[in-house]
Amino acid sequence: MRAAVNATFAHISGGPGLGLFTHVALYQTEIAVRAILGEPGPDAHYRALPQVTFTDPEVGSVGLSEHAAREQGLRVQTGTTQLPSSTCGWIHKAGNEGLIELVEEADRGVLVGATSIGPVGGEVLYGLAVAIQAEVPIERQRHMIYAYPTFHRAVKAALTDLRRA
Ligand SMILES: Cc1cc2nc3c(=O)[nH]c(=O)nc-3n(C[C@H](O)[C@H](O)[C@H](O)COP(=O)(O)OP(=O)(O)OC[C@H]3O[C@@H](n4cnc5c(N)ncnc54)[C@H](O)[C@@H]3O)c2cc1C
Repeated sequence: MRAAVNATFAHISGGPGLGLFTHVALYQTEIAVRAILGEPGPDAHYRALPQVTFTDPEVGSVGLSEHAAREQGLRVQTGTTQLPSSTCGWIHKAGNEGLIELVEEADRGVLVGATSIGPVGGEVLYGLAVAIQAEVPIERQRHMIYAYPTFHRAVKAALTDLRRA
């Protein structure tokens, strides 16, 4: 029994500091149930672990912070844009405070972390989470179409800021 439990936990383990979130519990449950039933599927990985704090403005983040990425020994670049200077921020007027910050692993040219603060900071996080999960090259992200005028379009400005150096 103990061996079976340990084997199941091995499928979902991710080290300390994962965060006690409902979406983590649900994600781990799916994998544990699959493992118990002997069904195929990937083990857990937490590269694109998101979290949202429902303050005003909302604070969403996914993956590594700049500090955590540097702690892991990664060569890091960051790109930032202020939401009020985006078109959607300008249209929104009062309550448009926020920013988008991107953390790039410079050697691989992919995002490893992002923070999205703003009126719908948690929603804007989705595209960034996909980019981190799928390791979409930053150059590819820079040459895609961002709907106008949306808050997520500010991601394009943050990607441009990554290349300022
Ligand atoms: C006030 C509050 C707000 C939160 N807001 C958010 C949020 O906005 N977003 C978010 O992602 N997370 C939020 N969380 C955290 C989230 O609720 C937990 O991370 C999540 O519920 C953990 O799920 P779980 O299944 O691991 O544990 P639980 O949901 O705690 O479930 C454990 C279950 O096991 C049962 N149990 C315990 N011991 C035994 C036993 N010996 N035998 C049988 N049954 C037992 C308990 O009764 C319980 O039903 C919040 C938590 C709190 C307290």
